[in-house]
Amino acid sequence: MTNTVNTVIIGGGILGCASAISTQKRLRKLNGNSNEKVCLIEKTVLSSGISARHSGIVRSANAVKKAAKLAKNATDYWKNLVSIWGVQCEYESNGAIWIARDTGSGKNEDWTKLAESLSDLDIQFGQIDKHQAQEICTKNVNLQDDEVFYFEPGAIQFDPTKVRRALYEAIKINKIDIKEKTNVKGFVTGNDGKITKVLTDNGDISCENVVNAAGAWSPSIFDSLGINIPVSIETVNVVNWLTSQFDIDYKMPIIADYKNLAYFRLWRNGEIHMHQPRHRNTREIARTFSENPLHITGGDLVNDPTNQSLGYGQIRIYEDIARKRFAELENSIYSSGYRSYFDITPDLKFILGKDDKVGNLFHCLGSGQGFKYAPVFGELIADAITGDGVFIDEIDEFSISRFDDNYMKNFWDQVSGSENTLVAEAASL
Ligand SMILES: Cc1cc2nc3c(=O)[nH]c(=O)nc-3n(C[C@H](O)[C@H](O)[C@H](O)COP(=O)(O)OP(=O)(O)OC[C@H]3O[C@@H](n4cnc5c(N)ncnc54)[C@H](O)[C@@H]3O)c2cc1C
Repeated sequence: MTNTVNTVIIGGGILGCASAISTQKRLRKLNGNSNEKVCLIEKTVLSSGISARHSGIVRSANAVKKAAKLAKNATDYWKNLVSIWGVQCEYESNGAIWIARDTGSGKNEDWTKLAESLSDLDIQFGQIDKHQAQEICTKNVNLQDDEVFYFEPGAIQFDPTKVRRALYEAIKINKIDIKEKTNVKGFVTGNDGKITKVLTDNGDISCENVVNAAGAWSPSIFDSLGINIPVSIETVNVVNWLTSQFDIDYKMPIIADYKNLAYFRLWRNGEIHMHQPRHRNTREIARTFSENPLHITGGDLVNDPTNQSLGYGQIRIYEDIARKRFAELENSIYSSGYRSYFDITPDLKFILGKDDKVGNLFHCLGSGQGFKYAPVFGELIADAITGDGVFIDEIDEFSISRFDDNYMKNFWDQVSGSENTLVAEAASL
């Protein structure tokens, strides 16, 4: 049996849900009750891919100005989610402390520049002294003299289980046509190259538009259309430390520790949650792509149980890092941990908006920070589909067309280039 809808969204992670809600609301607003439907297809259950692993952190500081601006918009939406999704989700607003190495005279040049560029966008992100940082961080956090501190008071944090519940509610009340446990198998295209039908193991669906929100799975899904989507995954380990409830202060902000390369937050009633950030260096990102385990299994590797446990050595490394930062961790208990994966692109920027080959295909891929941007990316996809809206001018910088042959050749050269030698860099340390 073939169903007919206006837009098919592939992937029921946070970005697929956000795209479905915003697009359905927009179609209703523009076309009254014309019954133009959005169908959201998820091969397992909602928010089960990488969206099942996020830390619930929403912060705006970002070295890419447009990304910072969108993050600020997203934060405002998250705070008033009911205005766009029809449901509210509670959050904590203890802000975020950013810690960097002092590169001279009590400053870090890069971070000073970042603070200046954020102030143009009306994002509060300012340097504070160690005494102020200690007060905000609460007494259990160790701060050092060779560090500098920045405070972002507008950063907020969510409980991921509550976000998941809010997603289901929003999908229900916005009357999205939802198909869980339905696998997209392929496409039928017309003479103009546009997708006319999405083929699934649960019936085929005719449509006007298709949104790719399949994250790490998208390279294999769209390969049959000759579209090369440069998304890979980077391993990230997560550990939760159980602490005494007498030792912690629930006002603890998010701690973005760029000296020890770790993010910390409190969650689940007194656990310190930690994981490392994504690689930032192009050569390391390129190497992650070249060693991409997705080549063998596709995105299913993300949910394969045999890939989720941490080894003793990995936990010990995290313990060393966490002990430097938390006074009481000496007597804390390893509560739980898992290996997970960031979805990444070559330049760590998102892929958004219309595809450059298939005229009715739109991408919504988050590049390792998709959770926080979700409400704004949903609106942006609705803008791109309907050709109108407040974010329409923000899309170009994130178009898939930037990854042309030339770009990808330079990118791969970062791995196979002349810099690689047999001499280990650390040998002379
Ligand atoms: C440890 C960790 C911490 C993180 N913390 C944060 C954070 O604090 N803040 C933040 O902003 N981001 C964070 N992130 C990143 C964030 O979780 C991801 O960027 C985001 O969840 C990606 O969402 P998505 O919807 O694009 O992808 P996914 O959630 O992976 O969704 C893709 C979906 O597509 C479905 N699918 C695949 N193939 C098919 C098919 N053939 N047919 C139908 N459906 C299909 C999959 O089943 C999956 O559900 C974190 C990530 C990790 C790993």
